[in-house]
Amino acid sequence: MMGDVGLKYGPVIFEGVSPNAAFMTRVKRFILTARTKYQEVQILELYEYGRALVLDGYIQSTENDEFIYHESLVHPITVTHPHPKKALIIGGGEGATLREILKHSSIDEAVMVDIDGELIEFAKKYLDFMHQGSFNDPRSKLLIEDGYKYVKDIAPRKYFDVVVLDLTDPYGPEISRKLYSKEFYAMVKSVMKDDGIMVTQAGNSFFYPRTYARVLENIKANFSIVREYWVWIPSFGYACNFIAASDTLDPALMSEDEVNSRLKSRNVETKFYDGALHVSFFKGKVLLGKVPEE
Ligand code: SAM
Repeated sequence: MMGDVGLKYGPVIFEGVSPNAAFMTRVKRFILTARTKYQEVQILELYEYGRALVLDGYIQSTENDEFIYHESLVHPITVTHPHPKKALIIGGGEGATLREILKHSSIDEAVMVDIDGELIEFAKKYLDFMHQGSFNDPRSKLLIEDGYKYVKDIAPRKYFDVVVLDLTDPYGPEISRKLYSKEFYAMVKSVMKDDGIMVTQAGNSFFYPRTYARVLENIKANFSIVREYWVWIPSFGYACNFIAASDTLDPALMSEDEVNSRLKSRNVETKFYDGALHVSFFKGKVLLGKVPEE
């Protein structure tokens, strides 16, 4: 929700992080406000976080801390796969998830499917520090369509080594909710190779424990190895949960040295993620809050 609190703060973004808690941060400049066929898109300059993408009033990523989210989302599963070549990204409109996937020199094809073509055009124009030209990489294949329909149409096709679901929150806008369902995860599995691995961002387990538990259950119904991890994202005002799943690969078994040697052998440069962080991700416990959900 945008608004001018009218105090000394001036214009702020005031974002509900739960039915009863909010996150507020000052806006320096409004760069773009538009409504696409699917969502309200804002690109703001924030005092604290730099340039930010906001969808339907929710901060998606910001200049000053997006690498925390995108490196944590992409690298744990991609490093765990011994020779990832074919990647599928559903969502990820800013192009930063695509950027991180393409860092792995083993990748020879990265298919990115986002429902909102207008958002992608805004990202190309205003968020170059996010995509960094990844849309133009010869390995990239950008498709503008509903990710649910895309996967349903190509299934079953054991094609992808890694699948990254970088969607709006499971308790957020309607357009992505069915991509957190049991049926969708079964279809995702049918387009992965038998030794494939997937990950999804899963919102926040503390503020939305029931929704998170449902997403986890839907994934566990389809995969035998399911690993949860989370990382604090300053501009979200909460920790973001991730759930990785496979029938053969287990990110929790990777050692610090194995992670670092795979990053090195694939020429992957990161700002935040490394072997030590990877190991810590899978040692941690997941916090389930007691807050009353919606
Ligand atoms: N980093 C953000 C976060 O953690 O909340 C999410 C990344 S991104 C901005 C979310 C993307 O999901 C948007 O680009 C949106 O257009 C896309 N999206 C939502 N529903 C979708 C669907 N059904 N199919 C494909 N893309 C979808």
